[in-house]
Parts: sequence; structure tokens; C-alpha cells
Amino acid sequence: MAEMYAGLPQLPAAICASCHHQGKAVSGQTVKALLAASLREVADGPYLFCPTPTCRVVYFAADHSHHFTTDQLRERVYQKVPTDPTVWACYCFRHTVGDIHMATLADRQAIIVDIMVGIQAGQCACDLRNPQGACCLGNVRSLAKHE
Ligand SMILES: [Zn+2]
Repeated sequence: MAEMYAGLPQLPAAICASCHHQGKAVSGQTVKALLAASLREVADGPYLFCPTPTCRVVYFAADHSHHFTTDQLRERVYQKVPTDPTVWACYCFRHTVGDIHMATLADRQAIIVDIMVGIQAGQCACDLRNPQGACCLGNVRSLAKHE
């Protein structure tokens, strides 16, 4: 996925003004797909995604002119409530944090395989479904490693 964002500028403004942590470049299409707010409020971009759990900001404009918070999204954001069993870890193939926590090691592996098969079949739409705008597999793999 890295090459997909290679064209986006790495600005000093990549720091979230609310939590002062680094944001991750996200496409304008992702912001539009995930917002519950009027898309009249969306600028041409670029936008960044703030993954900090304790920060309410999900997307902020690189020029810091505006931002969108968790209550303005159509989905709950995994990074903001990473221990909530009902939040999606995989937004495309519908696996929750609780599904993964409750699963046996073998079932966790089966969930990862399910996601990988879906990706290979071109059935994922991470840029439109996952608030981070990128594949969930890294998140799911690290969840699957936890107790
Ligand atoms: Zn933040």
C-alpha cells in the first residue's frame, strides 16, 4: 500500500494539532467515504489520519484549516477503541476485535487466511471501508498475537 501514497506530500503539518502525534497520509476518497458529515465540508486535501487512541481527531487537513472527529464518522475507528470487542478490526470482511480475541489460535489463523484470500480475490475496499484508508492485515496480525 505504501506506493499508493507515495505521491502525497510529507509536510511538517503531518502532526495532529490535538495530540501532537504523527498523522498518516490518507486519500480524500477515504475521508469522503467514512464521513457522516456533509461532504461540502471536505476540501481538496491532502488529509491525514490520526491513529492516537486518546485523541478524538480522526482526519485533519494538512494545512490545519479543519479536522473531523470520531463522532463525525460513519464507522467507529479501530485505533480509537482498540480494546472494544465490538469494533471492526477488519472492515472489509467483518471481523471484530472480539472475534479475534475469542478465537483459538487455529481460528485466528483462519481469520487471517480469510482476509488474505479476500485481498487476493480483489474483494477488499480498504480505502472506502477502513477509516485508516489502508489494509487491516497488520492490525489483525498483531491482535492475533495477543492473549
Ligand atoms: Zn490526534
